[in-house]
Amino acid sequence: MPPLTYQRCFNHAAREAVARCPECQQFFCRECITEHDDRVLCAACLKKLARVPLRKRRSFVVTIRIAQCAASILVAWFFFFVIGETLARKPQASHEGTLWRVPWLNQR
Ligand SMILES: [Zn+2]
Ligand SMILES: [Zn+2]
Repeated sequence: MPPLTYQRCFNHAAREAVARCPECQQFFCRECITEHDDRVLCAACLKKLARVPLRKRRSFVVTIRIAQCAASILVAWFFFFVIGETLARKPQASHEGTLWRVPWLNQR
C-alpha cells in the first residue's frame, strides 16, 4: 500500500497527484485539477457544480420575468381601470351639458 503523500492522479496513473478534490475526495494531477471560486476541484466536479447554479440562475431569471410580466399586467389593468372609471363617469356629466362649458368664459 502506497503512503498517503505518494498519490497518483485518478485519471492518469503515471502522474503524481498535486491536489485532492474536496468534492469526490480523489487525487488529481495538475492537469486534471482546476481552480473555481477559490476552490480546487477536479474537472468532473467542476462540471457538476457549474451545471447546478446555471439552472438555478435560469429559473430565478424566469421567476423574475414572470413577476415583471404580472406586475406590468397589473399596472396596465389598473391604468385601464382608472381610465374606464373616468370615462364611465364623464358621459353622465356631459349629459347635463356642463362638462363642455368653460365656466370662466360663459360667466361674462
Ligand atoms: Zn472531484
Ligand atoms: Zn491527471
